[in-house]
Amino acid sequence: MKKKAAKKQASKNKRTTKKASPKKGVKTMKTKAIKSGKTERSVIRSVNPYTEQVMNEFMTMSPAEVRAIMARSREAFAGWRDTPVIERLSPVKKLGEVLRQEKRNYAELITREMGKPVKDAMAEVEKSATLCDYYAANAERFLAPEMVATEAQKSYVAFEPLGIVLAVEPWNFPFWQVFRAAVPSVSAGNVVVLKHASNVPMTALAIEDAFKKAGFPDGVFKTLLIEPAAAMKLIDDDLVDAVALTGSNRAGEAIGAHAGGKIKKLVLELGGSDPFIVLDDADVEKAGRTAANSRMVNSGQSCIAAKRFIVMESAAEEFTKHFIARLREMKIGDPLDETTDIGPVARKDIRDGLKAQLRDAKLKGAKTVELPQPLSKGWFFAPAVVLKATPNMKVLTDEVFGPIAPIVVVKNEDEAIAAANNTEYGLGAAIWSKDTARAERLAKRIESGFVAINDMVRSDPRLPFGGVKKSGVGRELSHFGLREFVNIKTVVVKE
Ligand code: NAP
Repeated sequence: MKKKAAKKQASKNKRTTKKASPKKGVKTMKTKAIKSGKTERSVIRSVNPYTEQVMNEFMTMSPAEVRAIMARSREAFAGWRDTPVIERLSPVKKLGEVLRQEKRNYAELITREMGKPVKDAMAEVEKSATLCDYYAANAERFLAPEMVATEAQKSYVAFEPLGIVLAVEPWNFPFWQVFRAAVPSVSAGNVVVLKHASNVPMTALAIEDAFKKAGFPDGVFKTLLIEPAAAMKLIDDDLVDAVALTGSNRAGEAIGAHAGGKIKKLVLELGGSDPFIVLDDADVEKAGRTAANSRMVNSGQSCIAAKRFIVMESAAEEFTKHFIARLREMKIGDPLDETTDIGPVARKDIRDGLKAQLRDAKLKGAKTVELPQPLSKGWFFAPAVVLKATPNMKVLTDEVFGPIAPIVVVKNEDEAIAAANNTEYGLGAAIWSKDTARAERLAKRIESGFVAINDMVRSDPRLPFGGVKKSGVGRELSHFGLREFVNIKTVVVKE
């Protein structure tokens, strides 16, 4: 982390650790516009979701500071794009080493800033390091020109960088999401500017510092502490060449409209409401336990967590029993305790949203099984199972970003597929059956970018990741992800 910069900012603001404002709404944790001379700037707060204490505050960067960084990035691109691929991959490899050396520190920072259990934060940093290893080992091959036989003496396809990629990223996997977007981009010769979620500014600065420690030239990866509106302005003013967003559909629609208006290459990784289908011939105990694990990933705040459990009638009772039994084994509490499985959710407004979604289900007649709330402090939301959920309930129509699990009971395969596809999302899906040929047949009928059979959906650097329908556009990871932010240039040579 940029300790000096963080300290300087903190003392400049002359604020000390204090209880977060109890006022309702996003603004309490995120930003508050203030006037500083002629320039409108804001305060970005880092608030610990477990203690509810403000840990740090940062002024957003002024337009002049942002312009200076963009100029530096543009300059850096001129050198980086012409650096041989193999030389570019040396700091990529080193970045993985930096992550492993600092794993504990980074993990604790993540936990303090967004509340995920520290063992999960450690796994996230390790996974980000694995991604660095993967691109360090494979990017040269992915970027090698492809020869194509034509009537000409020589025809080939070259993969060249686009320029400055703006990465707008979410807080839920605050390392992994950034690395997933940035590492293939810089490997391909692009430079990256990061606009991270405004509740994780310390993590955003720590990531910039990790790139520096790995030996990337200044300007190849920069963090901007800015509001969404300032990120939009970068697109509108043609200061960036491409945009990668991971976030909500609301953000996707807004950024997509601006990037489309400026004809910029865009990858959108958006929300999900993944179905988890359990057929009558499944290993129901394993399915029930895996389903609970999937729902509780990151205390329920994962785009690819299973969010709707679609179970055939004959398996429903046993599935529900094992699902709830697994939930009861999980320890809810202090996220810095290594034995904790479920921490608080990241922001108070997220907890309020979950309460409203559960209330809606109950008002519409749902029976629920709710685990006890263990602590009075912290933004905890204890896991809740919604039994026999019906299609009019928000827990099925909206993305539920926290530990609520609606179970839908169906009579047959056709009903299962119809229920699974009855959503505007299309990120991932799971199907459980001992007959894998049957499951693969059904997988073809699922509208999603990923289907896991007899497992939960998990991302892997080697496999492309992304959604259809309103879950997004384009892919990250594997060679598909790396080739999103390149100019696929055709060269034809005749003598
Ligand atoms: P979010 O509110 O959309 O924020 C994501 C990022 O977009 C943040 O940096 C945010 O900045 C920025 N942003 C929001 N509105 C914007 C706008 N109008 N213009 C420019 N930037 C804007 O999402 P979140 O709550 O952080 O993350 C949760 C969502 O991300 C869920 O829907 C989840 O499913 C999705 N997600 C998807 C994937 C995937 O791979 N498909 C992975 C992880 C998460 P501020 O924080 O300053 O508002």
